[in-house]
Amino acid sequence: KVINKFTVPIKYCNQCGGLTTLKIPHGDNLPRVVCENCGFIQYENPRVIVGCIPEWKDQILLCKRAIEPRLGFWTLPAGFLENNETTQEGALRETKEEANASATIIDVFSLIDIPHINQVYLLYRAKLEDANFSATFESSDVALFDESSIPWDDIAFAAIKKSLKRYFSDKRSGTFSLHAETINVSTLKKHRIGS
Ligand code: ZN
Repeated sequence: KVINKFTVPIKYCNQCGGLTTLKIPHGDNLPRVVCENCGFIQYENPRVIVGCIPEWKDQILLCKRAIEPRLGFWTLPAGFLENNETTQEGALRETKEEANASATIIDVFSLIDIPHINQVYLLYRAKLEDANFSATFESSDVALFDESSIPWDDIAFAAIKKSLKRYFSDKRSGTFSLHAETINVSTLKKHRIGS
């Protein structure tokens, strides 16, 4: 199994601007981006994507993407966790930024590893504080959906589609629980969905 495969090559040191090279530092066991000039090691690690499943009565809120990637497809409000914020703060911030909506966290719902693209999703169930939401710079449309009206063929990301399926399945059963799962290349092929 290949681990620590770099998605974007890093050519220059972010400390001194020197040229970098890939090598296994002394005492380490994986190749790293190392500066040939100053020796600085630029570690690369997976990114955390946080978001909400915002509920309003029997519906949930989705955003139609106004930006790439997956422009025009629907998704839950979610985005990269920022430094110095908690995952819950990040999930609520993304809901504000992408849907202009205020919500409160109910509980953690979905933890999804996507190792081949170095991502971890953490999604919370959340309750909208009111029915006020609107399109934003990042979302050309924001709307409420029940299970039968979800645009299943136009969901932007595999992790979001998987989480929505679990959500409505849990909702029917009457019990919500945490779903920890992995999406890999073979899962995507099987379900013919984009990452
Ligand atoms: Zn350097």
